[in-house]
Amino acid sequence: MLEKKKKDKLHDALKEVVGPDHVTMQETDGILNAHDAFPLSAARIRAGERLPIADIIVFPKSAEEVSEILRICNEMKVPVTPVGGGAGSCGGTLPIYGGVQVDMKRMNKVHGIDHESMLVRVEAGVVGIDLEEYVNKAGYITGHTPTSLRASNVGGFIGTRSGGSMSSLYGKIEDLCLGLQVVLPDGSIVNLEAVPRHSVGPDLKQLFIGSEGALGIITEATLRLFPMPEERRFRSFVFADVHTGLHAIQQIFRRGIKPSVVRLYDPEDTAMSMSVHFDVPEGDCMLLLAFDGTREQVEVDEMMCTNICLANGGTDYGAAPARRWWQHRYDMYYPTKFTTAGYAIGDTIDIVATYDKLENVYHAMKEAMEAHDAIVMSHFSHMYQNGGSIYMIFFTSQPDADAAWETYRKIWDDGIAACLREGGTMSHQHGVGLVRSTYTEDQLGSAFQTLRAIKQVIDPNGIMNPGKLGMGGK
Ligand SMILES: Cc1cc2nc3c(=O)[nH]c(=O)nc-3n(C[C@H](O)[C@H](O)[C@H](O)COP(=O)(O)OP(=O)(O)OC[C@H]3O[C@@H](n4cnc5c(N)ncnc54)[C@H](O)[C@@H]3O)c2cc1C
Repeated sequence: MLEKKKKDKLHDALKEVVGPDHVTMQETDGILNAHDAFPLSAARIRAGERLPIADIIVFPKSAEEVSEILRICNEMKVPVTPVGGGAGSCGGTLPIYGGVQVDMKRMNKVHGIDHESMLVRVEAGVVGIDLEEYVNKAGYITGHTPTSLRASNVGGFIGTRSGGSMSSLYGKIEDLCLGLQVVLPDGSIVNLEAVPRHSVGPDLKQLFIGSEGALGIITEATLRLFPMPEERRFRSFVFADVHTGLHAIQQIFRRGIKPSVVRLYDPEDTAMSMSVHFDVPEGDCMLLLAFDGTREQVEVDEMMCTNICLANGGTDYGAAPARRWWQHRYDMYYPTKFTTAGYAIGDTIDIVATYDKLENVYHAMKEAMEAHDAIVMSHFSHMYQNGGSIYMIFFTSQPDADAAWETYRKIWDDGIAACLREGGTMSHQHGVGLVRSTYTEDQLGSAFQTLRAIKQVIDPNGIMNPGKLGMGGK
């Protein structure tokens, strides 16, 4: 927390920048912004704990205002935490050192569509669903539909390198973002213009995509658009085990087919998510596929995938399971069954690996996590030509808060250790935030020093989101 004199001085300076209505020191506002969707933060609040709050929250309306805010905070050496939609799952927006939260929700303007180049330029605070509906009206889709589409905004998507459910076809946000505007900690505004490809040195834009507010604040982005698909179809198959399901997926990509959705549920997740609606033999694994494109393309893709799945011993379940998942994909789930007894806590660990390692990573993580009194179920949620991600969901219920937090940490520690040991990468879409911060150095190895050096040059005072990305913190 800032000492009173410094806090008052900063408050006065920030009021000058954004106007008195757009800056707050109210404790209640601080409490509301003290957590995101990081399960541990929510669980600690439920258990009656107070989390650190920001001294001041400021709501800028333009890149120029963001620039002034950062210049002032940098001069006064005050920690700054950017806040997007506040639905991140790793604690990235938690102001663990107090200071200023820069909440981007007022910067929610869509500047417009470039129909010729199929691009849309937006401010960072535009909420995902608002952008999607805006471009849908003009006959496009963004191709980026994470489950948090209704809660998260463009700055948060880019800040975390997020992934939508159709990333197999359209890519993740790092593939979709062609141009970026970023304000650096010293207040300078950097414009990285939208261009389809270039060879003017390294792609600096990628430096900021996934930087979780630790290098600056994203104020604007130019994103790719796709024509609204003429046809969208669904197909589902059931396999005897994860191994055969994964083999079929590999074959699909080897044949050059790119379904928009490829999700393979392990036996536990099939039982939990699918068998309640469809008659699936115990121990089997459900594969959901979706296809986007022209009628002719989708017809061919669906037929080829069906042949591959049947040839690999899959049983055809038709469109219904995949379509049902699609229709309910934005439903938030609350595992009440697990939260009524004792101190319960659940979370998801999303990891990614190449095909040669994927299955080993899955088995090793599952074993390591289950060793700590956890129920674990998983699906292979985003699949590509060379590998894919696993979304490992766990729940544990303990007699008291201390036991719950300790078990939670052990599940994470041992789960991530198993992932790294087997050659996996510790996050595919959720980012690092607080929850993975202590593992960042192990994950990056010698490259961690490069990341630190970059941070040191761009943010020498270490004001930007300290404690996240494994840098500058607890
Ligand atoms: C129910 C649910 C479902 C989810 N489903 C998905 C999913 O399908 N795919 C997926 O990828 N994620 C998913 N998530 C996780 C999360 O929503 C995403 O990571 C999302 O990208 C976070 O965006 P946000 O706007 O909520 O970011 P926030 O939580 O506000 O911020 C996330 C991080 O980005 C930084 N940040 C935010 N805005 C900026 C900015 N303008 N400039 C610089 N840094 C910034 C913050 O400091 C923080 O470190 C889900 C979360 C929930 C709760």
